[in-house]
Amino acid sequence: MNADTTRADILTRWEPVIGLEVHVQLNTKTKLFCSCPNQSGGEPNRYTCPVCLGLPGALPVVNRQAIESAIKLGLAINGKIRMYNRFARKNYFYPDMPKGYQISQYDEPIIDGGSVPIWWKGELISVALTRVHMEGDAGKSIHDDEGNTLVDYNRSDVPLLEIVSEPVLHDPDQTHLFLERLRQIVRYLDISDANMELGQLRCDANISLRPRGHSGLGTKTEMKNMNSFRSVKRALQFEIERQAGILDKGGAIEQCTLLWNEEKNRAEIMRSKEDAPDYRYFPDPDLVPMDLSKVDIAGVRASLPELPHVKEQRWMDVHGLRLEDAQILAGDSDTADYYEACVREGIDGKTAAKWILGEVLRLINKLGVNIGEFRVSPQRLAELIHTIGKGTINLNTGKRILAKLVTEDRSIDEIIRSEGLGQISTEGELLSVVEDVIARFGKEADRYRRGEKKLIGFFMGQVMRATRGQSDPGKVKKMLEQKLRDQD
Ligand SMILES: [Zn+2]
Repeated sequence: MNADTTRADILTRWEPVIGLEVHVQLNTKTKLFCSCPNQSGGEPNRYTCPVCLGLPGALPVVNRQAIESAIKLGLAINGKIRMYNRFARKNYFYPDMPKGYQISQYDEPIIDGGSVPIWWKGELISVALTRVHMEGDAGKSIHDDEGNTLVDYNRSDVPLLEIVSEPVLHDPDQTHLFLERLRQIVRYLDISDANMELGQLRCDANISLRPRGHSGLGTKTEMKNMNSFRSVKRALQFEIERQAGILDKGGAIEQCTLLWNEEKNRAEIMRSKEDAPDYRYFPDPDLVPMDLSKVDIAGVRASLPELPHVKEQRWMDVHGLRLEDAQILAGDSDTADYYEACVREGIDGKTAAKWILGEVLRLINKLGVNIGEFRVSPQRLAELIHTIGKGTINLNTGKRILAKLVTEDRSIDEIIRSEGLGQISTEGELLSVVEDVIARFGKEADRYRRGEKKLIGFFMGQVMRATRGQSDPGKVKKMLEQKLRDQD
């Protein structure tokens, strides 16, 4: 059996149950409890102070922007904002944690519940969340070639949101879609860059299997160290197969934490349940509980952008877009804005989608830029599409002009005039070209009249060539057919 049939076979007997813990690094100006810049890279330990180094006597102060970011996410996922919430100390010792504890939230997180909508098999389903809480990040341990461990505290106390899902995901692909959607939402809200490769989005997963048709939960394991969307899928697949292998032989799953090793394409057991640390959480006495009753929640809600799933549904309903197309256009807010600006210029929704998904994305990929850097504004694209609609130029010429607009600031009219790209639109002009072509290729015209109708393609090619591709193919065909018939 190959890998795919093994997987399919496992899934007929076992249903995977997956829950995620996702860490999102906020893009605030400063860190969570001090005024050090929240900046990555640069010289190690440059962005540090007594607070984020955990020096005795230093007192933390909560970053207002981080709280606002958490509230934004809470509203976007329809979670319950806990007006009275507080920080707790999560005690453990590690060299990258100089305080001897992490400042996190425990039984009073800022957000309870909520859900993330994803498209699954053509339907919009909600992935339920347990909570979202705030915490400060740890520093970074760096192991050098000589076996020394160095620590960089630039990342110490950078604000994170930990988003915990309910164990309601049942497939590695579904989990992947959930993560992508979450990344898309935090980017729409502009609260995180959420680049997984840069560690701005990290995720751990809990995985268990249960016999198909059962509703209880099996013993779960925890998977850590997945550094890309690809490794999340591969690690979940690996763990599902490992657990199924044990259960199929009548064995029991041991609760443990696994570390994903991307190079070896396998996970290794990091610790068993017995070694699981007890963090002895307690409320942080240096931080007063947060009272959000003075925050203008309605104002924050009003400032939220329209979310991607709402756009997708609306564009399908109003413009008749296909789901796949709506998803690409709503992929990031710059592309979505570009599309909407084009539609606002009076371009039909389907036509605008076709141009952006086709020519615009093709040019963008070719140039290696993103749509925000694309030199042709949606207004200019709309003007071009209107010019085609009026019959001044044909579709192919339009595409050629779009490619020119990427490097030229000349107006569309100017390009058409100076390069003689205008479609031959007067009937008279076109008729004389058609008659001329028929006269030049008399033999072919005779063959056409004797029944070789496919020669129409040959004649059309000649007329298009004579007009340098600037005539309307539909009109040319009609005129040719008529003229060839007239001389019967
Ligand atoms: Zn600091």
